[in-house]
Formats: sequence, structure tokens, C-alpha cells
Amino acid sequence: MTQITREDCAKLDAADPLAPFRDEFVLPDGVIYLDGNSLGALPKAAPGRVADLIEREWGRDLVKSWNTAGWWDKPRTLGAKLAPLVGAAPHEVVVGDGTSANLFKAVIAALRLAPDRRVVVGETGNFPTDLYITQGAVELMGATERRVDPDGPELAEALAAGDVAAVLLSHVDYRTGALRDMAGITRMVHDSGALMIWDLCHSVGAVPIELSAWGADFAVGCTYKYLNAGPGAPAFSYVAERHHATARQPLSGWHGHARPFDFTGDYVPVDTASRFLSGSQPLVADAALEASLDLFARVDMRRVREKSVAMTEMFIDLTAPAGLGLVTPRDAERRGSQVALSHPDPEAGYPTVQALIARGVIGDFRAPDVLRFGFTPLYLRYVDVFDAATALVEVVRTGEWRDPRFAERAQVT
Ligand SMILES: *Cc1c(COP(=O)(O)O)cnc(C)c1O
Repeated sequence: MTQITREDCAKLDAADPLAPFRDEFVLPDGVIYLDGNSLGALPKAAPGRVADLIEREWGRDLVKSWNTAGWWDKPRTLGAKLAPLVGAAPHEVVVGDGTSANLFKAVIAALRLAPDRRVVVGETGNFPTDLYITQGAVELMGATERRVDPDGPELAEALAAGDVAAVLLSHVDYRTGALRDMAGITRMVHDSGALMIWDLCHSVGAVPIELSAWGADFAVGCTYKYLNAGPGAPAFSYVAERHHATARQPLSGWHGHARPFDFTGDYVPVDTASRFLSGSQPLVADAALEASLDLFARVDMRRVREKSVAMTEMFIDLTAPAGLGLVTPRDAERRGSQVALSHPDPEAGYPTVQALIARGVIGDFRAPDVLRFGFTPLYLRYVDVFDAATALVEVVRTGEWRDPRFAERAQVT
């Protein structure tokens, strides 16, 4: 097989239907950004939206904006804009709170829907907050947690016990980048009588998702990764319509009430996904999210997926000479929009990522030994993939990472 050249990559960029989107993002000179799976780049439309909210909606129109600027309904209007990205009906998604809080609501709502089953199954390698929140939720509910490797036979074994209320899995594994068969797993979980909660943090905005068609009961996801909504941007909750009248989440605040402006003393949840809301939302942050979702409204997710697969495939091929271990599944069908590599020397992973950052190639490191590179088809070019892969091979081959300045650990890795 002949290796792809930089000229080949430039030709692919020239023919790329998504290429114009790059100009809609702020991207610093000299940086190849392969960390959009951690914090997406800034859409150029976002600062203007945020400024408008602050200066006009807040500064001039003051409290009237709850009605005139649609502040009260923002969790629902943003949910409706996000819904097509996850294959949901507009009224099944609400934007609000953070992923951790929304996980807590979903796990407890699922346990309450299955009072005779007391086990929540999670995955051993999930992002820690999913594990910690599950621990907190089961403790509160007098339930127990079981952890499995969902990519092997353990999940089916756990379900066979017949005591599982709910399963919580990530659609794409944050560390390995493995993409799960949402339809097949959800079917298996339902066949056992349990409910299915999906965490979409590493798939929404990167991978086509069909929550309704694939039968999910609940889902959560964050918006600051592939959805480019900015640091600490609010998360979302998906609640399948069949649970709108019955799912009871524990943070029963006034925004989830059927008639919030009656100001009565008793909680009566509304019969929509809005019952997963709690209190007032960060509307300034919502403005940045809205700018990003309006951009995504013009994006064909199938094209995003095609380009993402082409880019991860290319990066895997081009970095092969570095001799690193491939942590991400080799089969593109089972891969999200990232490539995870491991260095044979466990001490080398972190400094290798730092040496790359010094060269302007920004990826990240996830303990214990994963070098993680995210691919965001809306603002990355094929030539960027080529240059990043070339830099990685050089850093590993030359031992550039051994420079002591790359070993110093920052607070956030
Ligand atoms: C990024 C991520 C989170 C983040 O949770 P926050 O509450 O936003 O800090 C949670 N779960 C997974 C799987 C993630 O990848």
C-alpha cells in the first residue's frame, strides 16, 4: 500500500463538502486542534449572541425577557434544536443543568420505574463521574451497582440475573473511543426487563444517533465537547415519550412543575420531558449553545460521520510507524471520532502529549497510559491530520518527549 501524501490530503480538502464550516470557527494560528472531544472550538457566531443576550435582552429589556426573549422556554427550544442530532422528537429533549446532575436524575428515575429490581449495571471503564453518580444514587435508593465490560459477554450475564433495573453505558467510550451498538444493546437490555440509559457525551455531534428508533429510555450528554457550546455549557436530558407521565426524578424543582406560576406548595410534575428540569438555567451560556446548534442545523451528520471515519482511519495509518499501541477499535464501524494510542513505556504517554502541544498539536492524555486525539470534521482539514500524524511520529522517533520540561504535570491533563 502506498502511503498517502500531503498533496493527496490537500486534494481531499479541496473536494470536502464540509470544508466551508471551518471558516465559522475561531482557530488560533499554528494550532492543530485534536481536543474538540474535550472542549470544542469557538463558533464565530457565539460571542455576538452572548453579547446580545447581555446587552439587549438583559441590559435593556430586563425581566421582560423571560417572556419577550423566550428565556422561560429556552430549555425546550434548545432541546428541540438538539433533538435531530440524537434522533429524538423535539419534546423529548430538554437542555439544562450538567451531565453529572442529569445522570443522577436518570438513574434514580429508572430505579423508581422498576421498584422490584434493585441493581444498576454500569461499565468498569466509564468516565468516573458516571460511576460516582451511580454510586451516590444507588446508595440513596437502597440499591446496588454492578460493573461490567460492555464489549464482552459480561453484560448479558449480569442481565440474566433478572434483578437489573437499569443499565447505564456510554455510547462512545471516552478513553478507548469504542462505539457501542446502541440498537442491539438496548434491545438486549429491554429483553431482560431493564431500562436503558445512554451517555452521549462522546458521540453527540460526532456520530449519527437514533435514540427513538433504537429504543433508548433515557439519555444524557454534554454540549461543550463536539457541540462546541463552550466551557461549562449546560447539558441535556432525553426522556422517551412513553415515560413522560411516569418517570420521577429526584431534583423536583419548580421548572419541572405542571403549573409553576401557580406557586402552590405541592410538587406536581408536568407530563413532558420538562419534568427533568429543576431550576433556573444559565441563560448566558445557553446563548453560546444556541449559536452552535444553529450551525449544526445546516450540517448533514452522515457527511460528518464519513469524514470522521476517513480522518481517524488516516491518522491510524499515518502514525503506525511510531510503533504505539492502538487502543481504539481498528474496525471503523466500532470507532467513535477519536483515536487512542498507548505508549509501551507508561512514563512516556504524558510527556509525548506535552511535546506535541509544544509543536502546536493539541491532544490530551488520559491516565493511565492513553494518548487521545479527537477529530472534529467541521473544523479540521485532512492536511491537519497529516501534519499531526507526522509530528507524532517524529516526537516518538526522536525521543523529543524526554525533555524534562514535558514531564511536569499540570492540574488538568
Ligand atoms: C465529559 C463527560 C462527562 C462530563 O460530566 P460533567 O458533569 O459535565 O462534568 C460525563 N460523562 C462522560 C462519559 C463524559 O465523557
